[in-house]
Amino acid sequence: MFKWLKKLVQQQTCAFCHNKLERSQDYINDVEETISVCYKCVPYAERRAFRKK
Ligand SMILES: [Zn+2]
Repeated sequence: MFKWLKKLVQQQTCAFCHNKLERSQDYINDVEETISVCYKCVPYAERRAFRKK
């Protein structure tokens, strides 16, 4: 039950900590992929020099 919902939620997780996305920011990583990062991991993304989308 709610398998589809779980899958949907899983797709909306932070690329770094894999927690639910909260106030997320999209970044482009070093392999040109768009990743979503939660506000807690934004400093980490900045350190990795990911570009803000
Ligand atoms: Zn995160």
